[in-house]
Amino acid sequence: MRFLITAGPTREPIDPVRYLSNRSSGKMGYALAEAALAGGHEVTLVSGPVDLPAPPEASTRFVETAQEMFAAVEAEIKRAEVLICCAAVADYRVAEIAGEKIKKSGDSLTLTLVPNPDILGSARSVFGFKGFLVGFAAETEHVVAHAHGKLERKGCDLLVANDVSRSDIGFDRDENEVILIWPDRPLETLALRSKSEIARQLIARIEDSLRD
Ligand code: C5P
Repeated sequence: MRFLITAGPTREPIDPVRYLSNRSSGKMGYALAEAALAGGHEVTLVSGPVDLPAPPEASTRFVETAQEMFAAVEAEIKRAEVLICCAAVADYRVAEIAGEKIKKSGDSLTLTLVPNPDILGSARSVFGFKGFLVGFAAETEHVVAHAHGKLERKGCDLLVANDVSRSDIGFDRDENEVILIWPDRPLETLALRSKSEIARQLIARIEDSLRD
């Protein structure tokens, strides 16, 4: 099957030397790409800036901003049968990027932020994607309730939720613990284990679902 996977953070410039971003390492998305390749699938990886080697057998497109990631997914989605949105896309970007480095002054500085496009949320409604759609949800509270809302709003076939308020899992860790939320099946927890193992199990669940 043909997988399209987004991974890593996005980086939203403020001026030529500064940006807004988040703590995503890209490890989960890269582990998913490796696991899909190991399963004999074709993988296109759309990656934000990360400190990881690109899987040699994947076709990898590097992007910086959410708008660039949106455009890369839009260009690749027609060929994809499975889209996994694992990237931690910045929800906002700076309305006007300063052309020169912003100078320090004694006054407070206000940045106006505008919303970024929702890539996962556009898969069905904007791109007309008919394949298997997987979203991730990093939550700090009411993990299941919030993730359930996302599953429905974004038209996902599977939502993978993790509790990022815990310091032992999630951002920049090698291990993760996730809850799988399906539209028509009971919740399932994949208890604490390596991101590679979580990735292998997720790819296996997706393969099973598509076979059914
Ligand atoms: O709404 P929230 O950002 O928590 O949703 C998380 C899910 O949506 C993740 O799968 C993430 O990759 C995706 N997402 C996206 N584009 C955005 C924001 C989130 O693809 N602008």
